[in-house]
Amino acid sequence: MTTFVNMFIQVKNLSKNYGKQSAVQDLNFRLEEGQIVGFLGPNGAGKSTTLKMMMGLIRPSDGSILIDGKDPQEQEVALKKQIGYLAENNPLYPDMYVREFLAFIGNIHQLRNLDQRIQEVIEWVGLQKEAHKKIQELSKGYQQRVGIAMAILHNPAILILDEPTSGLDPNQRAEIRDLIKSLQKDRIILFSSHILSEVEAICDRVLLLHQGKLVSDSPMKDIKDLEKFFKEKTS
Ligand code: ADP
Repeated sequence: MTTFVNMFIQVKNLSKNYGKQSAVQDLNFRLEEGQIVGFLGPNGAGKSTTLKMMMGLIRPSDGSILIDGKDPQEQEVALKKQIGYLAENNPLYPDMYVREFLAFIGNIHQLRNLDQRIQEVIEWVGLQKEAHKKIQELSKGYQQRVGIAMAILHNPAILILDEPTSGLDPNQRAEIRDLIKSLQKDRIILFSSHILSEVEAICDRVLLLHQGKLVSDSPMKDIKDLEKFFKEKTS
């Protein structure tokens, strides 16, 4: 896989208001490659709003985001090539066959050598035995693998994974967790989850939002009990 050099995301004094409603207030953080960062907070804390601003989908009210030195608003298409996104609930096309779906996504990204790339990604996420099936015929765990295959197909430097293990059994969760870990090298992975044991197992660092503010930015190793920590900071 390609090695990305010094990829970073710099968020400075970032705020977003929806009318009078303040969704995000004065966020400051920097993400570097090689990290899996847990992006946590109670519902309504401002996580989706922040992610949407990172993807260039909505405009900040104040402050800035630079991804690899570029403004997502101005570089939306170029930056989309750098970002892989697995949305909450992993929306897929259930009627499509796995390879057909990945070819559809690869064509959107205008990838060259697409058949070869699809084969590589299928092997990487462990879908070889299921790749001949329709998506709707797969178990939830394998559907998540299709979602991850979709997110990494264009080899992005940044992966944003929104609740990638929700609805999976413990074995499937462990498998997806290993898969995400294997993608860590040279990438920035932003991982949003309400399953705190999951975050403890996988993340190097935790950003915790509460009522639109960043209430903690800590290395995972400094947090003894994430559940207790989460409660203390957000209640
Ligand atoms: P989270 O992803 O952490 O659950 P959100 O970013 O979705 O939080 O929401 C943060 C706050 O902004 C909430 O109070 C929510 O109601 C509000 N909000 C989000 N989107 C909109 C919108 N399009 N219009 C008005 N308010 C919004």
